[in-house]
Amino acid sequence: MTNQYLADPLFQEALPVLLEIEAHGHEAYFVGGSVRDTLLGLPIHDIDIASSARPEEIQCIFRRTIDLGMEHGTIIVLMGDKDYEITTFRTEEGYTDGRRPDKVHFIRDLEEDTLRRDFTINSLAFNRQGKLFDYHHGKEDLDAQLIRAVGEPSDRFGEDSLRMIRAVRFASQLNFDIEADTLKAIQELKANIQQVSIERTREELTKTLVGDYFYEKGDLLVESGLWEYLPELSTKDSSAALKELRENLQWGSATRFTRSESFLWTLMVRALDLKESTAQRQLLRRWKHSNRTLQEVQDYSQLMDLYLEDGLTLWDVYRFEEHLIQNVDCWAHQKELTLTFDYEELSKALPIRDRSELKLDGRKIMELLSMTKGSSLVGEILEKAEYQVVIGELTNSREALDDFVMNYS
Ligand code: ATP
Ligand code: MG
Repeated sequence: MTNQYLADPLFQEALPVLLEIEAHGHEAYFVGGSVRDTLLGLPIHDIDIASSARPEEIQCIFRRTIDLGMEHGTIIVLMGDKDYEITTFRTEEGYTDGRRPDKVHFIRDLEEDTLRRDFTINSLAFNRQGKLFDYHHGKEDLDAQLIRAVGEPSDRFGEDSLRMIRAVRFASQLNFDIEADTLKAIQELKANIQQVSIERTREELTKTLVGDYFYEKGDLLVESGLWEYLPELSTKDSSAALKELRENLQWGSATRFTRSESFLWTLMVRALDLKESTAQRQLLRRWKHSNRTLQEVQDYSQLMDLYLEDGLTLWDVYRFEEHLIQNVDCWAHQKELTLTFDYEELSKALPIRDRSELKLDGRKIMELLSMTKGSSLVGEILEKAEYQVVIGELTNSREALDDFVMNYS
């Protein structure tokens, strides 16, 4: 029998994993985000499992497993079409670099395992009957809406600096405050955030930005002192930049624009007053964004300028990717910008959507001009014809385009 906590189908599907581990004489619990979010009445998305079984024991119990790094004690178990991360109870020690433990020791006791977890609300566990194990008053902190470090905050942040930005991330996701001593410890140790790899920091910062309560709690990025130690962000008055960012990222139910990384980082670079693409690229590269994100940020930023200044033309609607415009359009409507154009109408009015629809190609141009070898002229004519068709100055018909080529000078 399970109680109402485990009613979610994700838990129900995962129960056989716990049962199987127990049948082999070990303990296993649901831990982490799924427990926290269930107690908060929020939907859950992934299931983490902690167990007294050693990684090699987990591998013997289940037929399909993936080794995520045996020495750290995490094995993925594949069951049906789902996969579950199973982490062996452990203690960690060392952290000479403030990033990862020098050593982990496998242990057999859940309570001891919870001591290495970052926050009280993340140290909760359910057994397979849905009984709650709460060794650090996590339930009280959930009720009081507090992010509190497990144990001595400065020790915990000293071990792993990433936890500092995770505190802000959970505050932004849950509308929680950071408990006073925990916040004080971050303010003291803030500079250590620079030791963390940029990829891990970025992941947590991005989750902070998309947190449902970023508007309410985003100030914690500055209040904690972390903002000024995040690369490239302290180029202008941080409070002003953050204020602008918060105002742009109010994730109410009416928000229809994307929470994609490139859109968020567009708002970030703009909040920092980086309008030039070289300056934007420098920041984005420092944060190790992909080339695709770099390109999308540049496009988004140009589109926002057009929305704020000159308005969109048919040519703009043609040359930018549709989903990028749609997102900027939603953003502009949410900001209640006064617009002199209607994107939907422009989009409907487009004579062609893609060069392949143009009734002209390079071969035809060469034939009409009796050219035997291609040259840059062919590309030039094609581009001009495409432009004129898109803006409606030339009809997309064979005759009109042949005429255009023949009279091109
Ligand atoms: P999410 O809903 O984003 O998955 P989560 O709490 O499950 O939130 P994860 O990053 O999936 O977060 O981590 C799972 C659990 O592992 C956490 O709840 C926490 O107990 C522990 N944990 C993760 N990262 C750390 C860390 N850096 N230091 C200490 N404990 C951590
Ligand atoms: Mg998780």
